Amino acid sequence: MRILIAEDERKIAEFIRRGLKEEGYAADTAASGTDALRLAEENPYDLLLLDVMLPGLDGVEVCRRLRAGGYAAPILMLTARDRVEDKVKGLDSGANDYLTKPFAFEELLARVRALLRPAPSAAALLKAGDIEVDLLAHKASAAGAALDLSAKEFALLEYLARNKERIVTRTMISEHVWDINFDTGSNVIDVYINHLRKKLEKSGAKAAIRTVRGKGYLLEPDA
Ligand code: CA
Repeated sequence: MRILIAEDERKIAEFIRRGLKEEGYAADTAASGTDALRLAEENPYDLLLLDVMLPGLDGVEVCRRLRAGGYAAPILMLTARDRVEDKVKGLDSGANDYLTKPFAFEELLARVRALLRPAPSAAALLKAGDIEVDLLAHKASAAGAALDLSAKEFALLEYLARNKERIVTRTMISEHVWDINFDTGSNVIDVYINHLRKKLEKSGAKAAIRTVRGKGYLLEPDA
């Protein structure tokens, strides 16, 4: 899951980015409304954290423009103001939720989880053969046994399971699981794929990650 943090106060932006990273999210930051708009249009973020008071365009305007263009990712507004009309303005511009500064990081995290949670009608459990990825509990299992995964390995398995039986390229993986600083020349993805593959093999899972030469990877439910 990849998140854009639009916040011009560097300390706050960095604090949020680091906290989200520790939870296994990939996160980028934007320090102005115009940057936020550009990054949101260029990258497939799963969620936007949008400060209202931003230089360039304010958060409400960024939100309004994105929604007018059909932007579908959830948007969580952050603001120092606690006035009812500000909240109403934010929500009316198309934000999904609202958080007033200062906030406890735990609360931010709970709201992020809630916004990223699949709708009740959608499956909270991804299945690929004998692999199960529980999006609510943030746990995965293979062949009935729990997998001990790092936050990044979990994010990678989640992405592969969402796209099971489809080839995902390294670019697709880097765009959804890593942030904008990802070095496309590095072999980080291959290293993580190998770790994950070994853990799946050790568990005795029938499902496996196949390398498709020159293209990318494929999670096969019944390899
Ligand atoms: Ca601000």
